[in-house]
Amino acid sequence: MILNNSPISQFEYKNHTFFVKRDDLLDKNFNGNKARKLAFYLKHDFQEIDTIISYGGNQSNLMYSLSCLAKLKNWQFIYYTRSLSKTVKNNKYSNLELSIKNGMQLIELDKEYSHFTSNLTTTPNQLVIHQGALQKEAECGIKQLAAEINTWAELNHLENINVFLPSGTGTTAFFLQKYLDKHQVITTNCVGSRNYLIEQMNSINYDNSKLPVVIDNKQYRFATPYKELLNLILKINKVSQIKFDLIYDPVGWRILLENLKIIKGTILYLHCGGLTGNYSMLQRYNYLKNKSATFKNLK
Ligand SMILES: *Cc1c(COP(=O)(O)O)cnc(C)c1O
Repeated sequence: MILNNSPISQFEYKNHTFFVKRDDLLDKNFNGNKARKLAFYLKHDFQEIDTIISYGGNQSNLMYSLSCLAKLKNWQFIYYTRSLSKTVKNNKYSNLELSIKNGMQLIELDKEYSHFTSNLTTTPNQLVIHQGALQKEAECGIKQLAAEINTWAELNHLENINVFLPSGTGTTAFFLQKYLDKHQVITTNCVGSRNYLIEQMNSINYDNSKLPVVIDNKQYRFATPYKELLNLILKINKVSQIKFDLIYDPVGWRILLENLKIIKGTILYLHCGGLTGNYSMLQRYNYLKNKSATFKNLK
């Protein structure tokens, strides 16, 4: 299976033109940057492998894509996460539920989670995919994404474009910048601090490449409901006629819009997919709608 050449759409907002690279449209099961990160595994045969081992958050978009990969390849998929609350377990249509339906074996770890996942040992039939696929195998598909962007810029005679995307591990932003040497990649930290994001990017920077620009997000904590962010993303969805994700994109758009003055030239926003994660995030918003005055009059 080869997934590439996603289209680019555009819309106007606040007197600016925003181009959007539609990696959300790559494929139903494999979309966004997770499809790019897993391209290496989709492209090649792995004779000796019969099991994927991974770990991370219990609503992770990568977890869901890995469950699709395992199903496609007829492999087992073992996923380690921290102990789950009842609400998380009962979440309908969430990445967790969909992944379990695909055959994922979930193993909950308590205090031993950090030690266990940083000391994973495997046998030759097992493939380890680290949290967020922060590893060199992700480079292959992201290099292809960069090639598509380079070609688009050339065909449209656009020089020095700005490619913006929100970051988790920074894997996508880092490898994109590596192959977009004539253009500027700009990102922001959605998980943890700006320094932590830079540290993670440096952990895969084995040939001393230039890092993307990281605009500091000091305000918004990961996967936390903020009324102003929900309102913003609903507005962007409406104006653009594109559906964005509710975890990374609201922070991404907020930081991008706040910094338009310092970003000169064409802006290409990378849609990183992840819409299956919207169900569980919307449930968090709905929960607050009944509980808290701030959220009461949410649409
Ligand atoms: C995973 C994900 C990201 C973050 O990707 P990184 O390469 O880990 O920085 C951003 N947006 C969406 C929708 C994602 O699913």
